[in-house]
Amino acid sequence: MKAAVYYHNKDVRLEDYPDPIIGPGELKIKVDSCGLCGGDTMEWYLADKAPIILGHEPTGVVVEVGQGVTKFKPGDRVFVHHHVACMSCHYCRRGSFTMCKEFTQTHIYPGAFAEYVRVPAENVQHDVHLLPDSISFEEGTLIEPMACVVKGIKLADIRPGDTVAVVGSGFIGLGFVQLARVWGAGKVVAFDLNDWRLERGLALGADFAINSAKEDGLEALEEINEGRGADSVIVTPNGVKAIEFGLKIAGKGATVLFFAPPHPDETLTLHPTADLFFREITLKTTYSCHHVDTAQALQFIAGGRIDAKAMITHRFGLDRVADGIALVKEAGKSIKTIVKPALTPGVGETA
Ligand SMILES: [Zn+2]
Ligand SMILES: [Zn+2]
Repeated sequence: MKAAVYYHNKDVRLEDYPDPIIGPGELKIKVDSCGLCGGDTMEWYLADKAPIILGHEPTGVVVEVGQGVTKFKPGDRVFVHHHVACMSCHYCRRGSFTMCKEFTQTHIYPGAFAEYVRVPAENVQHDVHLLPDSISFEEGTLIEPMACVVKGIKLADIRPGDTVAVVGSGFIGLGFVQLARVWGAGKVVAFDLNDWRLERGLALGADFAINSAKEDGLEALEEINEGRGADSVIVTPNGVKAIEFGLKIAGKGATVLFFAPPHPDETLTLHPTADLFFREITLKTTYSCHHVDTAQALQFIAGGRIDAKAMITHRFGLDRVADGIALVKEAGKSIKTIVKPALTPGVGETA
């Protein structure tokens, strides 16, 4: 089969790769579509794993089932989650499934920027979902990233009527904008440095859009929020500057959630007394998502609470993954970029 092998952000090669062979309890999936995630562009994170086949947001068709599999059959349209927890360790028993030691070890092989993947038995058991007819393969690629948003929003302490600030209006930020309304926000305020993205935020349900490159973000927020900062702040870009901005626009008693990891060399300077204590600010983080979140994200997409169609803007074949990475990094006029093996020259319509 063909696969896109990642060496670094500008060097992703279309290579021949052995077809995955499945064992008992496993599935072989023909990949239809797979989202390109912000994490797939974090060179510092991927450097020591390269060469590697990325792609962890896949949908496709079951082409072969391993011995003992009864839940799925060839021809089924499915979403596959790449990580599952053990369900029985200390962290799993506390519900911190993404902290489970096995969580990051149970991945699909070799990665979904390829024609076929093998799904391990644990994943088949706990986190493969049939796609309802109402969800296309492309829309189904949003299940994993939106599950990360679902996990995040449950931590963001949004109470009915709250003013929720979403920093960053890329794909993840726009997901938070939509779910903040579902979670009962009174006002949703989208922030970005890019007017094109802010317009998308307004179209997808933000009440206000503030370009913090053009005006002071806190002043603009206070003006539309009775002089207060936000009750809940969700920071989606992966830099310390964005986290500092999130702390600045947080109102008294607010929770500030940061969603994406800054480069490990970055440090955050905090004045615990002024920044946290006397304002009773809670600072939280969220990493990845688990089987509970994927099931919920699927329902939000199927029910139209998340407008999946409006968020998919670009499609590339396996031969153009590096172009996709560049587009995601540029953070310009794109929202979600997906990779489709069938768009690869020479791959086409093979069964
Ligand atoms: Zn992802
Ligand atoms: Zn566990």
